[in-house]
Amino acid sequence: MKFTDLGLDDVILKAVVEEGYTQPTPIQEQAIPNVLSGRDVMAAAQTGTGKTASFTLPMLHRLLPHANSSTSPAKHPVRALILTPTRELAAQVDESARRYGKYLPLRVGCVYGGVPMPPQVAMLRAGVEVLVATPGRLLDHVGTNAVRFSSIEFLVLDEADRMLDMGFLPDIKRIVDLIPASRQTLLFSATYSEDIRRVAGAWLRDPVKIEVAARNTVVDTIQHTVLEVSEQDKSRQLVRLLHEGKITQALVFCNTKIGANRLTRHLQTKNVDSEAIHSDRSQIERTAALENFKANKTKVLVATDIAARGLDIEQLPYVVNYDLPHNAEDYVHRIGRTGRAGQKGEAISFCTPEDKESVRAIEKLINKKLEVSAPSKTESTRGTVPKPAPMRSRVPHKSGVKTAKADSFFSEPYQPSDRLSETSAPTVDHKEALLETGVNKKPIAALFMPPSVKPTGE
Ligand code: AMP
Repeated sequence: MKFTDLGLDDVILKAVVEEGYTQPTPIQEQAIPNVLSGRDVMAAAQTGTGKTASFTLPMLHRLLPHANSSTSPAKHPVRALILTPTRELAAQVDESARRYGKYLPLRVGCVYGGVPMPPQVAMLRAGVEVLVATPGRLLDHVGTNAVRFSSIEFLVLDEADRMLDMGFLPDIKRIVDLIPASRQTLLFSATYSEDIRRVAGAWLRDPVKIEVAARNTVVDTIQHTVLEVSEQDKSRQLVRLLHEGKITQALVFCNTKIGANRLTRHLQTKNVDSEAIHSDRSQIERTAALENFKANKTKVLVATDIAARGLDIEQLPYVVNYDLPHNAEDYVHRIGRTGRAGQKGEAISFCTPEDKESVRAIEKLINKKLEVSAPSKTESTRGTVPKPAPMRSRVPHKSGVKTAKADSFFSEPYQPSDRLSETSAPTVDHKEALLETGVNKKPIAALFMPPSVKPTGE
């Protein structure tokens, strides 16, 4: 299928061509016609599948009748709201929407926490048709009447699973309650739990269900290497791999912010250009760290799961699990940062004796045996699980298309997350902090029940 077959306006296609996209990805093939026809969509798709364009392009097309160059704020009410879990993802979606809509007189804006409010207030007051936001900061603006939702026609919940994991459900409920019920709602999620299904049942109307890849699969161009090390020896081994040139540039994951800071300092003392990215760093620092890494000015970006979620880094050769993740699904998300676009990538994981159980959980999830070896003989295994179409590929993506006919992803077993939400509404940063320390736990199901039937013991 070609982009021209999808029914998008020429002015949007022009921007798409300039992006260098020749063919729609599976998610785009499936979602774009449905969004254009006004259907709600519920899509199982991860970052890297082209999901941003799959909702942004048809939304821009449907907003065309509202496009105008008037300077009056009243002529530019918010018509499309895109909610994302993290600032980084919000910034990426904002940037994509600006690029896809560059030939349209439609305004795109973005609000997230960690940066001053006044410029965002000025932008909102001037008027913006497409607003990308993280939930906490958006509610701050609602509180000061800087933004109104009465003209919203589209609501997108991007990375809905992560938003729920981060405890945003109460905030999102408040936001959804303010949006006209006549809206079109699009929900994107990498995984489908009971909670996501419940949210979809409450907020989507007869959605088209799209699935572009089996859950929790990994790209077969990624090589998995698991090295047995002691906790004390991890930093020395990482420095060795970097100094020996075995690792050219890497996104390195730590499980805690303190650990990430400590490792970054250690690498710097060993003359390895490195920076950390996590929720204790200011947005300006996080953006700069990411830009430096993308521009190859730093060799190592040390990240926590939350900060790295959804990052789109082209041609990242290595992901290092300095700490193995507690949650096997995070392994899939982490290593999904490499091996994009059909390129080769390598995931190197340090495994301490205490991590054996985590390795088994990962193997079960990705349906693949990982050979654990001593650092000196770094054996590796090639991924064998088939996987969705890669991004930036110039080859057809057809083979990855899979539309869920009989609720296939709804029949998947519920995998409880150990990171459920808090019913109070902490700030964005606070939530990230809670999540990264693993403190914030409360069954989401409780939030959909009246107080009298809330499960006891919470
Ligand atoms: P996303 O999953 O939305 O984060 O997109 C991942 C990457 O794929 C981004 O760098 C996009 O620019 C790129 N991309 C999106 N659609 C296409 C396409 N049809 N062909 C090639 N690359 C694409």
